[in-house]
Amino acid sequence: ASRMAKSSFEYVRSFETEEKCLPNTWIVVRIDGKGFHKFADAHGYEKPNDKRALDLMTKAAEVVMDEFRDIKIAYGQSDEYSFVFKKDTNLYNRRSVKLMTNVNSLFASSFVYYWSQYFAEVKLRYPPSFDARIILYPTNKNLRDYLSWRQADVHVNNLYNTTFWSLVLKKGLTNTEAEERLQRTLASDKNEILFSEFGINYNNEPEIFRKGTTLVRTKVKSSTDEISKKGIEELHCDIIKEKFWKEHKDILEP
Ligand code: ATP
Ligand code: ATP
Ligand code: MG
Ligand code: MG
Ligand code: MG
Ligand code: MG
Ligand code: MG
Repeated sequence: ASRMAKSSFEYVRSFETEEKCLPNTWIVVRIDGKGFHKFADAHGYEKPNDKRALDLMTKAAEVVMDEFRDIKIAYGQSDEYSFVFKKDTNLYNRRSVKLMTNVNSLFASSFVYYWSQYFAEVKLRYPPSFDARIILYPTNKNLRDYLSWRQADVHVNNLYNTTFWSLVLKKGLTNTEAEERLQRTLASDKNEILFSEFGINYNNEPEIFRKGTTLVRTKVKSSTDEISKKGIEELHCDIIKEKFWKEHKDILEP
């Protein structure tokens, strides 16, 4: 009973505020590495795409999805991951700060925890951190447009980066020269440079680099002898067109 007694200090709790996510809205938490341009350099990330880094990001995202079962889909690219909670989740009473900070800190600690599995020969030189934001989308269209926006972003950046680093690493241009060369070029121009100067057909570049990573839950029933099966599927496909959503109807269903 004495533990229940209120101290004269307890009133300070009333200064706390609690913002709750609007009911019946998709809740998206997006995390993004802080200063990862520098972090990538400091840890020898391969240019323009380090597969180990992408796989480590995805491992951390899987830990988050394992812990927070109300996440229906996650989408990652570069140093960012978006997690989509089902519209009717009641986790933490929909308190936005609780959702955002718990996702963010579990992601960050998992990134560090699994670092050596993906970068066996690279010492982690300092503790990385991530920012987070939370966004509410009232309609399925808004949510799909959000995910399309992130995937379109990969396309634009990856086409640019693939061309830029080809010019620098394979043609010996300086960063400034490569930048100038690519100023005001269209996507078609970059495709042409890649093809005619480097024999690269952009469409044949690995899908993980062009499409990012989508994590969905598999509908596999947990068989008794495979209790450790995670039930998360990693995809590198288009999520802008209808096909993906027709094949994964359950994501948008309540
Ligand atoms: P901020 O703190 O504002 O997010 P940032 O330096 O992290 O700054 P971003 O726009 O988030 O900037 O870009 C992330 C950068 O991290 C990329 O531009 C790239 O340099 C690097 N990076 C992240 N992932 C990879 C990867 N898998 N392979 C190579 N480089 C990567
Ligand atoms: P929540 O996720 O709601 O915060 P919690 O289990 O973390 O749940 P807290 O009220 O934050 O609950 O209490 C933290 C608990 O962690 C303590 O009650 C205690 O059992 C344990 N704990 C934390 N730090 C120590 C420590 N230094 N030594 C022993 N026990 C500790
Ligand atoms: Mg940024
Ligand atoms: Mg970043
Ligand atoms: Mg980023
Ligand atoms: Mg506590
Ligand atoms: Mg606690």
